[in-house]
Amino acid sequence: MAPIIAVERTLEVSGMTCASCVARAERALRAVPGVVSANVNLATERATVAILDGGAVATDALVAAVVRAGYDARPVPPGAPDADSLRRQSAGDRADGRRLVLAALLSAPLVLPMLAMPLGMHLMLPPALQLALASPVQFWIGARFYGAGGRALLAGAGNMDLLVAIGTSAAFGLSLWRWAEAPRGLVPDLYFEASAVVITLVMFGKWLETRARRGAASALRSLRALAPERARLLRDGIEIDVPLASVTPGDDVAVRPGERVPVDGTVLVGTSDLDESLVTGESLPVPVAPGDAVTGGALNGPGLLHVRTSRAATDGTLEQIARLVEHAQSSKAPIQRVVDRVAEWFVPLIVWVAIGTGIGWAYAGLAPDVAILRAVAVLVIACPCALGLATPAAIAAATGRGAALGVLYRGGSAIERAAHIDVVALDKTGTLTAGAPAATTALADDQLRLAAAAEATSEHPIARAIVALADARGLALPASSAATTAPGGGVTATVDGHVVIVGNRDHLALAGVAVEARDAPGQTTAHVAIDGAWVGAIALADPLAPGAAEAVAALRARGVEVVMITGDREDVARALADRVGIATVHAGVQPLGKAAQVAALAEQGGRRRRVAMVGDGLNDAPALARADVGIALGTVSDLVAASADVTVLRGGIAALPTVLALAHKTMRVIRENLIAATAYNAICIPIAAAGLLSPVIASLAMSLSSVSVLASSLRLRRFEMRSP
Ligand code: ADP
Ligand code: MG
Repeated sequence: MAPIIAVERTLEVSGMTCASCVARAERALRAVPGVVSANVNLATERATVAILDGGAVATDALVAAVVRAGYDARPVPPGAPDADSLRRQSAGDRADGRRLVLAALLSAPLVLPMLAMPLGMHLMLPPALQLALASPVQFWIGARFYGAGGRALLAGAGNMDLLVAIGTSAAFGLSLWRWAEAPRGLVPDLYFEASAVVITLVMFGKWLETRARRGAASALRSLRALAPERARLLRDGIEIDVPLASVTPGDDVAVRPGERVPVDGTVLVGTSDLDESLVTGESLPVPVAPGDAVTGGALNGPGLLHVRTSRAATDGTLEQIARLVEHAQSSKAPIQRVVDRVAEWFVPLIVWVAIGTGIGWAYAGLAPDVAILRAVAVLVIACPCALGLATPAAIAAATGRGAALGVLYRGGSAIERAAHIDVVALDKTGTLTAGAPAATTALADDQLRLAAAAEATSEHPIARAIVALADARGLALPASSAATTAPGGGVTATVDGHVVIVGNRDHLALAGVAVEARDAPGQTTAHVAIDGAWVGAIALADPLAPGAAEAVAALRARGVEVVMITGDREDVARALADRVGIATVHAGVQPLGKAAQVAALAEQGGRRRRVAMVGDGLNDAPALARADVGIALGTVSDLVAASADVTVLRGGIAALPTVLALAHKTMRVIRENLIAATAYNAICIPIAAAGLLSPVIASLAMSLSSVSVLASSLRLRRFEMRSP
């Protein structure tokens, strides 16, 4: 049977106000036939929907489902430069700002008498003027609450808008009623100010909230902003200024000094220094010359370059990173599912509590209008949005900050798992070591030439070192054929009619070749056999990765056990382990054995321990996938292939403490947020029900509670690299 393939669609969803909206939008999307999964994020206002490929799920059907659930949606290409939606957003934000100012201006005169009271002044606006001020706020500026609340109600659910709509309508209606009841000539107490001020404050809260949400998503925008919008296409030696999207792979473009490289490619003409720090994390300027690969988004130094493009902008490196971050930002932490479920019950519960409050106080002998005001206070103080934002705001801020630090988390669940790691298993080559060994050998040029030709087929650091050694001796490498690589062993190939085997003792033994010498003590050794006979060895000295010892010490200081899992020999591994302070070493482990070792580490000691595996994305993929958290110390090019939960683009092993600390901090912020939001509701709702809060104060408290949750999440944007 052919495998079932799902493809992804992205929608921009607007009009969601709280966690219950998220749950409802998701349910609506999942109900569309052919939808495999749907993930809606309140902080990024995006829905990611997996649908069956080849199935007849039209994007229109997805949009329609969201609209039926009460929100606006429009399809957006995943990751395409978002200029259009950004423009919409900022136009919408400006309109919101204007409405807010207007609401404040109209409400201010209504509160003046309240403020004058303590000064001994008894101002009283004529009821008709109060009505004239409050009506536009209630029914025109506040129309969105009726709209969103009404749609939620129709869809059989509730949200914050509904609570606000019911609450303010009650205060407004109550005022009308009291005015009608009052004897002629007597000015009654009215509550128009309550309805207008509640709406103004809630809008103010939303305005702050939007700003904070945009802040959480800003890392992504600054990443995409690295790609210039236009490129200088070269046609017959003439520069033509074209939009970036019209550059296709194979085109030649000119990059002037101080400009950014438009897309990935290879230098044809010119030399310069490139600052790739924002893209690849490499902090030093990289000198480039013809033949060198360049990454889109890199900042060109002093030289004029002609670059042959290798990829379209839409699948260049920069875009891949941006997409990964985007995906991560809008993915859910498992903890969020619990919150979503609670939120669905929240609004109906509050409505019942409010009704109970009103009826209860009326029974207790209070005037009906006072009883109703207390019910209104209950409605407007309850804040499901603080609950709803607690998790996604923190995840969005943390993944954005991580990307800026060169740490790419695959999503909320990766962060949640990385926050509670008990054991870190480190690969040796390329993780603890720099992965660029220096090779030395007593082999004759002729033999080294054959060995290097065989290794030229492999990407392993050892292979590259051997090829480099041959280069250094000025040897020209013949072509090889029938090359096979045994991961964790070595290579076998036919070169110039000879069967050449390069690898460790076991690898040669498998081919029936006995190694006639000891390995160089403490050094990785590659043995060479030609036509079934051992001819000599190449010793490889791989220097420690910068910051390795400090990183190991920092991990241990966090209470994390650090072990090494390597395919290399015990004595080599042990010598290295001693230098960086690792006690436990598992040596001679084949790539698949590494995965089994990771599983064994998890079970060790009687309780389930959470294990992070750190390695290079390609070689160690099985172990990375098996671990609770797979951390790839990679380059950007590994990104897509890597089966890693976290990809470290910058700093290598030295960034590990940061990976764990940022995740830990994020989960702490989420916990604090959830506790604050829950405590807020648990404390304030009873106070309001007891009649101790006016609706105005209640709405102020409600707005502040969701803003404070966001503000606390934004602290993550200031998270600094942990120096190990
Ligand atoms: P590590 O666990 O240190 O990353 P690997 O699993 O990649 O190591 O490889 C384990 C051992 O296999 C190496 O120490 C080396 O002896 C041998 N080996 C692997 N690939 C090659 C190669 N291309 N050439 C020579 N030896 C190799
Ligand atoms: Mg390795």
